[in-house]
Amino acid sequence: MHVDPAYTSQECSKCHHTERGNRPAQAVFSCRVCGFVEHADHNASHNIAHRGWMAWVCGAQSTAPELTLIA
Ligand SMILES: [Zn+2]
Repeated sequence: MHVDPAYTSQECSKCHHTERGNRPAQAVFSCRVCGFVEHADHNASHNIAHRGWMAWVCGAQSTAPELTLIA
């Protein structure tokens, strides 16, 4: 699976809604759908970690707890 940082920076790590409008400022992530707000870099790193993990296990069912993905 390809991990594209450009889109992870616009993707909500809560509901996975992806929209340019989710980034009202460089350092701010604010989801237009669920209202989730976080520092933009933290939100993107959560998304990248999630996608990277999913790619690493190559489609196998993940049993890892969410806690392992929190930076
Ligand atoms: Zn959201």
